Amino acid sequence: MAATTVYKEPAPRVANTENPLESMMSRFNIAAEILGLDDTTYEVLKAPDKQVIVHLAVMMDDGKVDVFEGYRVVHNTILGPSKGGIRYDHNVSLDEVKALAAWMTWKCAVVDIPYGGAKGGIICDPTRMSVGELERLTRAYTVSMKDVFGPDRDIPAPDMGTGPREMAWIMDEYSKTVGQTASAVVTGKPLVMGGSLGRTEATGRGVMVSCLAALAKLGMQPEETSVAVQGFGNVGSWAAKLLFDKGLKVKGVSDISGAYWNENGINIDEAVAYKNAHNGRLEGFAGADPMDPNKLLTSKVDVIVPAAVEDVITEHNAHDIQARLIVEGANGPTSASADPIINQKGILVVPDILANSGGVTVSYFEWVQNKQGFKWSLDMVTDRADRIMNDAFEKVYATSQQYNIPMRIAAYVVAIDKVAQTYKYRGGY
Ligand code: NAD
Repeated sequence: MAATTVYKEPAPRVANTENPLESMMSRFNIAAEILGLDDTTYEVLKAPDKQVIVHLAVMMDDGKVDVFEGYRVVHNTILGPSKGGIRYDHNVSLDEVKALAAWMTWKCAVVDIPYGGAKGGIICDPTRMSVGELERLTRAYTVSMKDVFGPDRDIPAPDMGTGPREMAWIMDEYSKTVGQTASAVVTGKPLVMGGSLGRTEATGRGVMVSCLAALAKLGMQPEETSVAVQGFGNVGSWAAKLLFDKGLKVKGVSDISGAYWNENGINIDEAVAYKNAHNGRLEGFAGADPMDPNKLLTSKVDVIVPAAVEDVITEHNAHDIQARLIVEGANGPTSASADPIINQKGILVVPDILANSGGVTVSYFEWVQNKQGFKWSLDMVTDRADRIMNDAFEKVYATSQQYNIPMRIAAYVVAIDKVAQTYKYRGGY
């Protein structure tokens, strides 16, 4: 009989200085107070609708069976079926997934798309698993979530550690359980099986669109603006490339291998080509000099775009930030304890739930196309996504002016107000 082992978490990759759920709740509480949210709606929204914890027994290539813990948290579905990615990482925790699920509710409400919020995760290290092991894990997770997922119930998508390949497996396994091809059960699929044009670059594009909108408010010209981008994966590299195309000088970029600086501006097309040819890493890139990664976010630039991991701007480094504008590509890059410091310094922040919502917007377009059985052109996707991003930006900005509050809290106010109003109309307690 094959031996059974329980997967053990390696040491954390990044020290989380704060619990992400507490960070989210502290902003939610401020916005709820400003809105005068009634106690019932507050109680309903502060806890997720549903939390599912599963243990998945998966045969590894060496014949042993490992048991992985997986989660799916559905935070809220008052606006529509829940939507949210699935994260494969050794740092995944239920608290993190709960925070990310709530963020999805607020994100969908901010951009005004008819979805609720959810998130999933499996504690695993995908970099140390074979393709076969990952496929068996993904299929086991899908089977265990067959009563949670559904094209009109809960629609997963990629997140850290997952991509189109995993989405294809989920679509296939789910389709088998229901006995028909169910393309709309998942987004972020490969193009040939119902993925949308423009999805790959959608989050980075939304970061670029909201950055330009914020620069206009600050009276800054793109050609005279410098930027540093932390993270050079999907979000960071696309944001850097599209900002570079708009004439911004990208002086610094970083990834897990280190940080790289060029005072005259990095040629991002060359950096992307280098990364693609070197296993997704910038290490050894000759178009910039290595620098201390801890100094990237406090370097002398006009804009910083954290697009890697959570809690990288904290009370420890916020005082030293020199940028006038922060555009949050990552989810939760700023810990709640840094908020007052940033506000006091007068730095404008385009918060994560607004700045990185281009991804879920084009995911929504993918789902609409699957349901229509019709493919949109790239222009149609980008025009509509840009319009949604700009409308959401203007709404959040106007709310921040109206209440004299930071854009982060304004984004929560916009989102919570929409959800609370829907509860009022739907009633039914
Ligand atoms: P990714 O895995 O494609 O890229 C992550 C990048 O960050 C890599 O370049 C990696 O080397 C780098 N990195 C990791 N740890 C780092 C560190 N400590 N310092 C500097 N760089 C580091 O992931 P992604 O899809 O680009 O996601 C990045 C962030 O954006 C995450 O917070 C994710 O939740 C969020 N996000 C992604 C999407 C999307 O559509 N991909 C949508 C919304 C939000």
